[in-house]
Amino acid sequence: MNVLVVGESEADELALRLLIAGIVGEPTTCPSGPSLRWRSRGLGVVYKSLESILYYAMWKTDAEGLAIIVDSDMDLPHDDSRNVACPCRRCNLEREIAKIRKRIRNPNRQYWVGVAMAVPKIESWCLVQRSKEVGEVEWQRMDNAARQSLHSRLKLMLYDTDRPDLELEKRKVREAIEEIVARDDGIELLSRKFPYGFGHFAEKLRNYRAQLT
Ligand SMILES: [Zn+2]
Repeated sequence: MNVLVVGESEADELALRLLIAGIVGEPTTCPSGPSLRWRSRGLGVVYKSLESILYYAMWKTDAEGLAIIVDSDMDLPHDDSRNVACPCRRCNLEREIAKIRKRIRNPNRQYWVGVAMAVPKIESWCLVQRSKEVGEVEWQRMDNAARQSLHSRLKLMLYDTDRPDLELEKRKVREAIEEIVARDDGIELLSRKFPYGFGHFAEKLRNYRAQLT
């Protein structure tokens, strides 16, 4: 699948790209076209650049789709139990994207867009096989102090240091995600443990691919 992956960091993008290959069952390719240049990274940049990212992806590249990944951090987790618009980062982004897509259309192209949200951050997905503490249900059950504690320990749990450099981050994330994807039930396991941030994304992508054939 030819897909543009955009996230808060290169490690997040690497993880989602490897997972997309696992979901669709074929390697991904990066779109050709002028490269998207970042002066800085982070959640604010993703939000602020959303319209230009969508425009770029749809009009300037040959990408079949755009995948966005954000961390939930300590913000509200997804909640569809109440009859109101969910305030989580994933739903906020999905609503924003829907609005932008009404303005920017490319009638010549069918275009897939998906949003994934790591709860509370990418290291928890990487640790899904190794730690019983990670998972969206586990996160929702925790009080604020327990969440703060886990959030602050995740880097140490994955990298053996809480200040990894980007190379170490990418190496450890790659190893962990490749290990998950290599399992027959790896995608299913991650979807079960992270149903709103990952499972929802995986299902939408599978449905899109199924209607192509
Ligand atoms: Zn939500």
